[in-house]
Amino acid sequence: MKLYEYQAKEIFARTGIPVPRGRVVLSPEEAAQAAGELGGEVVIKAQVLAGGRGKAGGVRFAAGPEETAAVARTILDLEIKGLPVNALLVEERLPSERELYLSISVDRQAGRPVILAAAEGGMEIETFPEDKIRRRFVETRRGVHPWEGRELAAALGLRGSLLPEFGKFMATLALVFERNDAELAEINPLVQVGSHLVAADARLNIDDAALFRHPDLTKGQELGTQGGPSFVRLGGDIAVLANGAGMAMATLDVLESLGGKASCFIDLGGGTGEEEMSKAIGILGGFSQAMLVNIFGGITRCDEVARAVIRGRQAAPQLPLVVRLDGTNQEEGLRLLREAGVAAVSTMEEAARQVVAQTGGKGEKEV
Ligand code: GDP
Ligand code: MN
Repeated sequence: MKLYEYQAKEIFARTGIPVPRGRVVLSPEEAAQAAGELGGEVVIKAQVLAGGRGKAGGVRFAAGPEETAAVARTILDLEIKGLPVNALLVEERLPSERELYLSISVDRQAGRPVILAAAEGGMEIETFPEDKIRRRFVETRRGVHPWEGRELAAALGLRGSLLPEFGKFMATLALVFERNDAELAEINPLVQVGSHLVAADARLNIDDAALFRHPDLTKGQELGTQGGPSFVRLGGDIAVLANGAGMAMATLDVLESLGGKASCFIDLGGGTGEEEMSKAIGILGGFSQAMLVNIFGGITRCDEVARAVIRGRQAAPQLPLVVRLDGTNQEEGLRLLREAGVAAVSTMEEAARQVVAQTGGKGEKEV
């Protein structure tokens, strides 16, 4: 299983590998806010599970909130190797003096972990000239010693305080590799900032056969494909929040038949709590001109949904919103919403009609 760069960096940082300051965001507005907090120049990076993002336009620099928002919008609209961009990592831009390459992977032939390093970074390792790559077999199970890293660093031509720095860095990367049952831990580029080394990029692939040992990596990935609410971007202007994949698909169909187009949807799954639901509404607000919430309350009670919607709407109070509630405690839910000034109805058709009207749709399919 491949982890997103931001997930890999979280793990790196926890283990003691320096990474740039930054945070993951889902909308241009959030990106701008992050840039404001970081100050100075920032790097905005598409979070997709594909290499070569840089070349595809998925890694760009900006300065200040305004430019960051514009760049973020451009990257979120990209498709990189067929993958939509759902999230961005906004980081401080490091004044890099040198770029290196460092990875640990399993050498299938030798059946052992191997470290690859090069005094150049940035490009894909496959394109490196063979004589530029240094290789060293290691025993990650017993731990890699800093001196092994110092030797490798010397072979790469590093000097002075960079030798112990690289030694410590490599030993820590080996720890990350071992603790997480990784197949690949790659830093490309590893950048030199003064006398320090920082992981400007991060890749961490976990051995699928060992995933049962890492429930934290597979559960609740905010934007991942495993577990938790799933988020899908579509390109129209109406955000859809529904519970259950079938319900989400039905909602998209009804919208389409009425001339509306969904910008994205979140499928909450069954029995989602108030906390998760209000967070989802906040996320969707950044991607749309209007929002349609379509919930059938079975285990989830409609009054709970109503409270979550009212709370979540604070993240995007000006956004036109229509809620359809049906099922357990429906009357109470509809009452709460209407009292809070939210359009609330009990059928999907009616809700879709109202939300399409809000975005200027004609209420019938265009031909
Ligand atoms: P990739 O194309 O998917 O491997 O994306 P990377 O995260 O490696 O970024 C592409 C390139 O952008 C890197 O090779 C660097 O040259 C550059 N880059 C990324 N982050 C930084 C940074 O913080 N500072 C500087 N100076 N360059 C960066
Ligand atoms: Mn890279």
